[in-house]
Amino acid sequence: MIKTEQRPVALVTGASRGIGRAIAVRFAQQGFAVAVNHSGEHSAQAARDLAARLEGEYGVEAAAFQANVAEFDQAKDLVAAVLERFGRLDVLVNNAGVTKDGLLMRMKEQDFDSVLDVNLKGAFNCMRHAVKPMMKQRSGSIVNLSSIVGVRGNAGQVNYAASKAGIIGMTKAAAKELAPRNITVNAVAPGFIQTDMTADLLEGAGEEGLTSRIGLGRVGTPEDVAEAVCFLAGPAAGYITGQVLAVDGGVLL
Ligand code: NAP
Repeated sequence: MIKTEQRPVALVTGASRGIGRAIAVRFAQQGFAVAVNHSGEHSAQAARDLAARLEGEYGVEAAAFQANVAEFDQAKDLVAAVLERFGRLDVLVNNAGVTKDGLLMRMKEQDFDSVLDVNLKGAFNCMRHAVKPMMKQRSGSIVNLSSIVGVRGNAGQVNYAASKAGIIGMTKAAAKELAPRNITVNAVAPGFIQTDMTADLLEGAGEEGLTSRIGLGRVGTPEDVAEAVCFLAGPAAGYITGQVLAVDGGVLL
């Protein structure tokens, strides 16, 4: 749970586009200073533009931080750079994620490893380094992005499903470990959300083919997910930890 007299600080991984970007905007709207993480040179401009927009539109502090979260040392440097820039860290959102889909019998070892490295180990790496300042503050909250695929599986995604199911186990274990330190750890499991990640899927299945599987009859927006993430990270969810909140329009029902 966040408890601070100063303005709170949120680090959002993979915030250059998609869901991460919407989460960064939502935190800025709530007065957080926002650290916008992105993975490489290709996304540096988008991350810098977003940080400038957050400062300009919402009057908060914001900055872009390049780091490949799959690398333990880069995650360490990322957290250190955020602390140096903003002086504290109240919220970590492990949003960075990738897919490399393929049928099990044809999946390359490299495609299994790289998805696990970013989606699961990346979240571990960032939590591992972020909990230290949160423990010192005796407050903090962590939200990890899982997926409905981590709950019920999906053909062609054994790597992605394993990473997102792993996120759920890791979230619950960390929640138990960190509760005595007043740090909450929760996960959000989105369904079909309109981003670059699902662009091919949405095009392939067609909007109608997909929406027939969604109770609420529409594909989700990044903002739908951002709202849930910011709720779980904020003071209104101070007594909630170790939970997995599906934001899927009813797919899992
Ligand atoms: P997206 O549009 O493809 O964006 C992915 C983001 O992750 C980008 O900002 C990317 O940054 C970043 N990223 C990738 N590898 C990284 C690395 N090694 N280090 C740091 N950042 C990295 O994806 P999205 O749809 O917004 O998904 C966001 C999260 O929600 C993911 O964890 C995803 O698995 C989860 N999710 C999405 C859906 C959906 O329907 N879209 C459903 C369930 C769960 P760069 O641009 O710098 O590479």
